Amino acid sequence: ESPVSQAGISSSAGRRERVGEVDCFELSPSSVLKLQKGDITTWFVDGLTDAIVNAANERMLGGGGVDGAIHRAAGPELKMACYEMPEVLPGVRCPTGEARITPAFQLPVSRVIHTVGPVYGVVQNAEFLLRSAYRNSLKLAKDKNIQYIAFPAISCGIYSYPLDEASKIAITTVKEFPNDFKEVHFVLFSDDIYRAWLEAALEFM
Ligand code: ADP
Repeated sequence: ESPVSQAGISSSAGRRERVGEVDCFELSPSSVLKLQKGDITTWFVDGLTDAIVNAANERMLGGGGVDGAIHRAAGPELKMACYEMPEVLPGVRCPTGEARITPAFQLPVSRVIHTVGPVYGVVQNAEFLLRSAYRNSLKLAKDKNIQYIAFPAISCGIYSYPLDEASKIAITTVKEFPNDFKEVHFVLFSDDIYRAWLEAALEFM
């Protein structure tokens, strides 16, 4: 049984195509949104114009979840590069909702974009901050001429953002950038997150 029917979705949206393990949706004639289950630390396209996004914290010195996995795979130089980012407040290198870029060191991509999503249930404007994290990552990638970018499900682990809301915010924010990238990917670590993203893409794409 395909993941689509497991998700309880009977009809598929237009302009959707499943290629192997990847769901592809047309953002524009020159740009594709792709969803897949997997580990973002092994994702790459060409090692030159590609970037992965890290769900970091404001200190930017590593942590658990995808942040820990990215730092382990990139090697210790990534922490050094993050350490050298200027602090905008004591201990804060990247405020929630903003984004920073570093080299990717031992990772197969060219760059890492570090962004910080909100902790769900703690702040009032969580939706604005999660949208800002995606939007500022995409803006920074565009400024650096990144052509291929992959996101994890920001705030959906330790920061416990509800998956149905987070997936809607993620997909609709990518739609604000229909012509800026060749491919925008979501590399999703678990079945439940993958299914939430697929449902949002089928609804909003
Ligand atoms: P946050 O603190 O923003 O919630 P987490 O790292 O806890 O960040 O979780 C963000 C998402 O990243 C979660 O959905 C988690 O399952 C996922 N994740 C963890 N490891 C990986 C990985 N190697 N590749 C892709 N996603 C991952």
